[in-house]
Amino acid sequence: MDELESEIRTDYRTGYYSVIVPGREHRPVELEMEDEGAKNLKDCPFERDTVDRKNLEIMHVNEPWTSMVIRNKFPELNGSTPLEYGKGFFSYISGYGYNEVLIETPDHFEKFEDMDIKKSLEWINTLIEREEDLYSRNYIKHVMVFKNYGASGGASIGHSHTQIIAWPETLGIQELELQKMRDYRKENNTCLYEDAVKKESERILFETDSVAAIAPYGSRFAGESMILPKRHVNYLMELNEQEKEDLVEGLKTIIRTNVKMFGRQSYNFVIHESKTEEEYHMHIEIYPRLSNLAGIELGQSVFVNTTVPEEYAKKFRETKLSV
Ligand SMILES: [Zn+2]
Ligand SMILES: [Zn+2]
Repeated sequence: MDELESEIRTDYRTGYYSVIVPGREHRPVELEMEDEGAKNLKDCPFERDTVDRKNLEIMHVNEPWTSMVIRNKFPELNGSTPLEYGKGFFSYISGYGYNEVLIETPDHFEKFEDMDIKKSLEWINTLIEREEDLYSRNYIKHVMVFKNYGASGGASIGHSHTQIIAWPETLGIQELELQKMRDYRKENNTCLYEDAVKKESERILFETDSVAAIAPYGSRFAGESMILPKRHVNYLMELNEQEKEDLVEGLKTIIRTNVKMFGRQSYNFVIHESKTEEEYHMHIEIYPRLSNLAGIELGQSVFVNTTVPEEYAKKFRETKLSV
């Protein structure tokens, strides 16, 4: 392993993957809570003048600087090509890939869920533009988009941003989900996620003609939800205009309603999608970070969820009405 290159290692005990990243000790100090970011405005690396001054590599900019994509200074994946696959007892893939950050707004204090529809559509269209570019590169099989918000969500910078990571393989939960979708199709000849929209009635948070939001039956986390297009769509680029609008507005509604229900909390959302697998039904998962992982979760990968998903859904529907 090169001293500065990362590596995707398979844990021989479980088959789980870990990205081993050297040299991350220089990462910015984690914030206590996102609002503390206000104190750090002067040092914020996502202000336009800082981006210019530090000569950060700009991948895309929506003029006049309404949002911008830069290369992540602290990448998880930075290995060199050609890809290397280590087989045998210690198996690994070289940590090749791209890490980018979409700075959603020039306003240090504006929150994702408070952006207007125009900005939200710019957000999703910018992601699509970046995905198109990243998927066109050699060795890239999966582009992952996610947001970390707040210290417990793993955010190290308060200024609203989304992360994009382009991977050399489809790994982990996405791989498991794909297998589930395939098995379900084989048995039922229908799409698992489309059937979920029909069967989850008790746990539907809301729906429009084109999208549905659900608190899934077996949710791992309190207040976990997902929002998905009703039509079978593999990845962002295939969404039509109505689906894009309903997805971004729905995502904001979920975050806003969660804040109303649980108070200001850290959260993550992750866009699950696949360009290469036709069976894959894209969806966005949202996890409010209301508790820490403890022994049962870490030791057994069995999650303890103290909020019954159908009760969360019921309360969500009542709360949403008054948002
Ligand atoms: Zn800022
Ligand atoms: Zn489907």
